[in-house]
Amino acid sequence: MTQTQNKTPSPGRPCRLADVPRWDIDTDVVVIGLGAAGSCAAIEARAAGAAAHVFEVAAAPGGSASWSGGEVYVGGSGGTRVQRAHGFEDSTEDLYTYLMMAGGPGADAERVRIYAEGAAGHFDWLEAQGVPFKGTYLPGKWIEPTTDDTLLWSGSEAAWPFSARAKPAPRGHTAQFKGWGGGKILMEKLCARAEAVGAVVHCNSRALSLIVDDDRNVVGVVVRIEGKEQHVRARKGVILCAGGFIVNREMVARFAPAALACSEVVSGGNDDGSGIRMGMSVGGATIHMDQFFATIPFFPPASLVKGIFVNARGERFINEDAYHGRVGHYVLRQPEGKAWLLVDNEIFGRPVIEPDIRVAAVGETWEEVEQELALPAGTLVHTVAEFNRNAAAGQDPLFHKAADWLRPLTEPPFAALSYCAGDMKAHAFTMGGLHTRPGGEVLDADGAPINGLYAAGRCACGLPRWGEGYSSGMSLGDSTFFGRQAGRAAAAR
Ligand SMILES: Cc1cc2nc3c(=O)[nH]c(=O)nc-3n(C[C@H](O)[C@H](O)[C@H](O)COP(=O)(O)OP(=O)(O)OC[C@H]3O[C@@H](n4cnc5c(N)ncnc54)[C@H](O)[C@@H]3O)c2cc1C
Repeated sequence: MTQTQNKTPSPGRPCRLADVPRWDIDTDVVVIGLGAAGSCAAIEARAAGAAAHVFEVAAAPGGSASWSGGEVYVGGSGGTRVQRAHGFEDSTEDLYTYLMMAGGPGADAERVRIYAEGAAGHFDWLEAQGVPFKGTYLPGKWIEPTTDDTLLWSGSEAAWPFSARAKPAPRGHTAQFKGWGGGKILMEKLCARAEAVGAVVHCNSRALSLIVDDDRNVVGVVVRIEGKEQHVRARKGVILCAGGFIVNREMVARFAPAALACSEVVSGGNDDGSGIRMGMSVGGATIHMDQFFATIPFFPPASLVKGIFVNARGERFINEDAYHGRVGHYVLRQPEGKAWLLVDNEIFGRPVIEPDIRVAAVGETWEEVEQELALPAGTLVHTVAEFNRNAAAGQDPLFHKAADWLRPLTEPPFAALSYCAGDMKAHAFTMGGLHTRPGGEVLDADGAPINGLYAAGRCACGLPRWGEGYSSGMSLGDSTFFGRQAGRAAAAR
């Protein structure tokens, strides 16, 4: 049996309209996946007057977003109500500049512009959907708040080179929740809202393949609902909001092999790439598939940010006050997969998230630490001496670490925490996905839209598209914001 004759539905093979026996469900807009992007797409499709059905493979809605920190990256327009209440003015231009840097070499200026201009309004919209934000500010350096505070520094804003080009402001806005996991409350509210405005939600429903007519227009989707295959007609469009591909190790090996170095997947479990594959099956192009978020949560305690990372040559390679995901990428690509965080007695602490990190060397002098790590004689000692000399003067001429985090490492005993491959856990999710317009229209290899097909969230390649530039909150900010655009665009078709 040839590929085209095979009628078994699969994400990688569309179903031909001619093979549809009947329409089991007939609607305007079909949303695949009820997570961050899907919930917002459904809300906006309904607001635009379209009938909408949402199909979610899991027994309960929420996706990875419901496991997340619930931190959303927003600002600009002078500041959100929370930024302004705490004295942080945040211009649209500064947010734009930061996001363009964060997008790296492939930053999408049109998308970034739309987001920078709309992000503060988007925060108001989230509140209007019922998502609670306490409105308080949590100073310091955190990976995720365990308090129920709202505003925090969540990226590399105050760190070089970002701080040199865009005025820093805290932009992480976290849904009000005590403990880890504000995403739970964020998604409870957004999913409830989608149903309240009339989107028909089907859980335990896996989208299997897209349905296309002879002109490659996407006209529906095959869904397995509670074990039974159903053919769903989408008169206006199908919006793929099925997340990324980090749990599909074959796809990771093929498209983002460097992410295999990360043992921990940042996912609710269904980021299996099925949405991306459905888009590819009808000619959707993918971009930045090699990019991924990778963190090594080496702090809190924040004192550890005052330590310095060195590699197998005993050399520093990053300003350690940058976002932990940026530091993570630099750590992962060091020669031989070897890197250590050097600390002295004053700043030492066990990282809260990975407290069992291996202490690879301890010494009363830096010479002893260097010998224990078997580094070339004089290398680490020279690095620390230079760092200490400059830190005492409040400077870091090599990597421009901000003065707040500069302190000579002079109080013995000294230690090296191992961030070598095999010793540490790196956590990852994928950033690449379907190439889309800001409105969610999926584009083919020629840059032409595929009629009837939209994508948002980690199914698409959105604002997060460069691992080194990511900041906490960007994925939820992107997914919820551009999910809304896709919902509106599909409804308007
Ligand atoms: C522990 C953790 C902490 C995080 N913290 C943050 C944070 O604070 N800020 C931030 O910005 N990001 C954070 N993230 C990342 C963020 O949650 C995700 O990147 C984001 O949820 C992506 O949104 P999405 O809509 O694309 O995917 P999701 O929210 O995962 O939604 C996709 C949905 O599609 C469903 N689905 C998949 N395949 C199918 C199919 N074939 N048929 C039907 N349904 C399907 C899935 O079950 C899921 O419900 C965190 C993630 C985790 C796991």
